[in-house]
Amino acid sequence: MQKPKLIVDGKRLDGRGFEELRPIKIEAGVLKRADGSCYLEMGKNKIIAAVYGPREVHPRHLQDPSKAVIRYRYNMAPFSVEERKKPGPDRRSVEISKVSREALEPVIMKELFPRSGIDVFVEVLQADAGTRTACLNAASVALIDAGVAMRGMVTSVAVAKVEGNIVLDPMKEEDNYGDADVPIAFLIRNDRIESIALLQMDGRLTLEEMKKAMELAKKGAMQIYRLQREAIMKKYMKEETEEPEEENEQ
Ligand code: UDP
Repeated sequence: MQKPKLIVDGKRLDGRGFEELRPIKIEAGVLKRADGSCYLEMGKNKIIAAVYGPREVHPRHLQDPSKAVIRYRYNMAPFSVEERKKPGPDRRSVEISKVSREALEPVIMKELFPRSGIDVFVEVLQADAGTRTACLNAASVALIDAGVAMRGMVTSVAVAKVEGNIVLDPMKEEDNYGDADVPIAFLIRNDRIESIALLQMDGRLTLEEMKKAMELAKKGAMQIYRLQREAIMKKYMKEETEEPEEENEQ
């Protein structure tokens, strides 16, 4: 297929400026049976995150007597992409699960939960590039919703190089036909970016472009962080004002 024109009259295909995020929607506490959960949309990406734990680890030999064991499973639904995806794990999902777990692990206060396990499941219901970043944002909210003690929030966004321009939060066409894609996650603590929790890159950037990409990612991440916080606050305000729900077991 011929490469489409991605920037027209200084605007991107979906009308965004270079430094604009896609519309974001975040809701915490959407699943009754999970200890913590989150539904998140980032543009056309639709993600559900569910957290179980801290709970007993099975099989038991995986337990760590000094701290919690964190497991992270990224999964793409077969119907989430244009060309049906074969169900089950593949190399890509195993890699994404690993790097995402490593991004979250240092932020979770694992030492408070010896011998226990914290399982994070993220399901991509609809994908449009940047799913690993959207999933991390949802997972972070779900972990806080589960009451897991955290050192801060993990907030993630990608930056891309498209027709010579550094752009924030690339969508599918920009990811497919762009010159570089750089997903980044930050640890944000006390409303400040403290460190980089994940940094990957496809393609090539000059050092100057990389600096610009990092600055742009930081700006975008702070906006997403505020929405993550808002979603958590909203959930807890709701809990405070709501009567406890009657269990309606059949
Ligand atoms: N994608 C797809 N089929 C697949 C894997 C990915 O259509 O089996 C699409 C999907 O829209 C995804 C995008 O390609 O969001 C970019 O994938 P990438 O591996 O760069 O990860 P992501 O950007 O989603 O973190």
